[in-house]
Amino acid sequence: MASRIDHLGIAVRDLEASEALFGALLGTESQGREVVETEGVEVSFFQVGESRFELLRPTKPESAIARHLEKRGEGIHHVCLKVDDIAAEVARLREAGFQFVGEAPRPGAGGCQVAFLHPKSAGGILVELSQGEH
Ligand code: ZN
Repeated sequence: MASRIDHLGIAVRDLEASEALFGALLGTESQGREVVETEGVEVSFFQVGESRFELLRPTKPESAIARHLEKRGEGIHHVCLKVDDIAAEVARLREAGFQFVGEAPRPGAGGCQVAFLHPKSAGGILVELSQGEH
């Protein structure tokens, strides 16, 4: 079962400009950046209470974030739910008929294990499940 919303993923074109914007919006600074090579993204996190914003900039033209920016422009890309046991959650959701995008689970940012539910089976929302540190 999900314990909380871990973060909202925001697709951005210009990480510097978006860090300045979210920094001003939240009155705080980025906790740092990380390149997730396997996803073709560079991310930057901003803490908000026990949740976060994750700004995502594509590092490759074929990455999912690059395609999202092309189709829909900047804005909310996914909602991430924190789970204690991602393997059990993936199994439970598959059993319930939910579909996943790509390998599930797989390594994500911050050493977490992540899985993405296909928006077609999750009310039009790309839902990320995450197990790990944050
Ligand atoms: Zn995320």
